[in-house]
Amino acid sequence: MSRKFLITGNWKMNLTPDESVSLVDEINAVVGIQTNVQVCVCPPFTSIPVVSTKVEQSEVLLGAQNMHEEPSGAYTGEVSAEMLRSLYVSHVILGHSERRQYFGETNTSINSKILSAINANLKPIYCIGETLEEREAGSTMEILSAQVREGLSGFPSSALDLLVLAYEPVWAIGTGKTATNDMAQDAHAGIRKVLAEMFGESAASSVRILYGGSMKPDNATGLLSQPDVDGGLIGGASLSAKSFCDIVQAAMSAP
Ligand code: PEP
Repeated sequence: MSRKFLITGNWKMNLTPDESVSLVDEINAVVGIQTNVQVCVCPPFTSIPVVSTKVEQSEVLLGAQNMHEEPSGAYTGEVSAEMLRSLYVSHVILGHSERRQYFGETNTSINSKILSAINANLKPIYCIGETLEEREAGSTMEILSAQVREGLSGFPSSALDLLVLAYEPVWAIGTGKTATNDMAQDAHAGIRKVLAEMFGESAASSVRILYGGSMKPDNATGLLSQPDVDGGLIGGASLSAKSFCDIVQAAMSAP
């Protein structure tokens, strides 16, 4: 099963609208026309409207970093899937480890968001990953399996084409420590096995699983060459157009 690479930039809480326009203009100029690799940028909410107008004429996709599970209502400070769709957002990062760590998100609360996202035809990029303590205790696969099973509970097989997973070992996010190519491949293959148990082999083989955690131009080729690594979720390196586009170019030439 051939899966198109997806390289997604998570800009986190960085960049004003003006700064976002400069960055997306540079990205558009280098990788905005090609269709070999899907490229997606996830600006903060405040930059989504301006970036939306900028990607309209290019192949670059637009994502958000979070959403609330309800369509509307008295939820001060929150944004719904419908609101994002109205700005032509196609993807939404859900369950990022920073949201689990600082905002108390759990597999169960993330599950509600994932189901709401697909109801609004928004593609969830569901982040999972183990902490250093969990890896050292030998429980990586157990943690990943629970995150997949609980986070995707009730997920309809008919909507699997909307789903993207991101394996992000927590100890590798923003630390400069990257999983080795073998560690990433083992985790991705294990995640795909859990998907196969839940949805069947054929469906599992079509779901893209991105790697995230200090991916940079110099380690991208090795990671992206692993058979079960279908792209990257890039934090720090996505704030530089050069680094981000170099990673996209690594994906274009990866086997
Ligand atoms: C992330 O935040 O999803 C991420 C992978 O960050 P970084 O690339 O900076 O490790």
